[in-house]
Amino acid sequence: MDMAQHLSEIELSARILRHAVPKMSELNIPVTPNNYSVWYEYYLGINLDLKRAIDGLLANEVSFTVDVSDGLFTTYIQQHSPAVIENVQVETQMLINSLLSKIAGMSQGTVKFSTSLKTFDQALKNNPSPEVLQTLVDDIATELDDIISANIAMDESLNSMNQEVSALKTEMLDLRSVAMTDQLTALNNRRAFDEEVISHIDTFNQQEFKSSLLVVDIDHFKKFNDVHGHLIGDKVLTYVAQALKQSVKGDDFVARYGGEEFVILLHNTGIAEAKIVAENLRKKIAQRNLTIGKEKKLPLGNITVSVGCASLKFNDSKDSYFIRADEALYRAKSAGRNCVIAESAVE
Ligand code: GH3
Ligand code: MG
Ligand code: MG
Repeated sequence: MDMAQHLSEIELSARILRHAVPKMSELNIPVTPNNYSVWYEYYLGINLDLKRAIDGLLANEVSFTVDVSDGLFTTYIQQHSPAVIENVQVETQMLINSLLSKIAGMSQGTVKFSTSLKTFDQALKNNPSPEVLQTLVDDIATELDDIISANIAMDESLNSMNQEVSALKTEMLDLRSVAMTDQLTALNNRRAFDEEVISHIDTFNQQEFKSSLLVVDIDHFKKFNDVHGHLIGDKVLTYVAQALKQSVKGDDFVARYGGEEFVILLHNTGIAEAKIVAENLRKKIAQRNLTIGKEKKLPLGNITVSVGCASLKFNDSKDSYFIRADEALYRAKSAGRNCVIAESAVE
């Protein structure tokens, strides 16, 4: 991003902030990240459904209770345009950074200013001078006192603003991690995966780098749910998530792609090594005798997974890469499940 674009985005965010925050306080709406994304969108003006909904509420003088605010966030931000959450984060982050650097500069400036005025004051007082000058010095001294105490007050308010901004920054980071995490398994979610694939493709294009992708799907999971119930099914999903996470190294990336399907991006790993990793995790899951209950352990039997593997190639897009691994998974299912198939060697 060039500097001009960066600045204009900061200006846009700042302009929206100047409108949104006073309006929110007028309506007694707490400035939480969720509420802020609603009002940010409102003033950005692109999300017409949201704009219509809020204008309707304002026209009818509906009060913005927690429920009303939560409803707006869920309906118009979270479900309607989840990407907005991220944009707001990125833009607010830039705004915060620019505010922080301004504040840091200003605090330093005011401290220096008071010090130099004090020195000036002292120098004049020490100088044996005519009476006229003495009056002037007294006047200046009074003024200086005012300026110095005003500066102290300003420093204090800058300090507390600094703290608020840091707190907001932390909240924004939390919001980002919530937006990228699967609630059931605490793994990365599909959005986080999309970002990670792009980052693999970028790295691949910039340097000597290998990337492999495993698509892991639980076998006959519908039947498992039918037999044991959805709640136990959910527990099994969490168990598989953990097992996958424990089967890979720190640089590798595990996500829940959806339902009973998981994806693993292996960092700097070629297809031969990827197949070994896949085979190990397949075995590990198939061998485990699952039980439920703490004291009275009831057996649930075994579950198995099928795995499709592909390895990143020149000119791959996010989709072409995924499709090759998914086709391999399909072949693993056709081959009888509980097995690993890599993409065909033919380029
Ligand atoms: P296959 O071996 O061909 O993959 O068979 P399958 O039954 O696993 O595949 P199918 O796509 O027919 O069904 C997937 C099932 O996964 C349907 C649903 O019961 C289950 N499932 C998907 N998401 C969840 C979830 O969040 N919790 C639970 N408990 N089950 C889920
Ligand atoms: Mg399945
Ligand atoms: Mg599936």
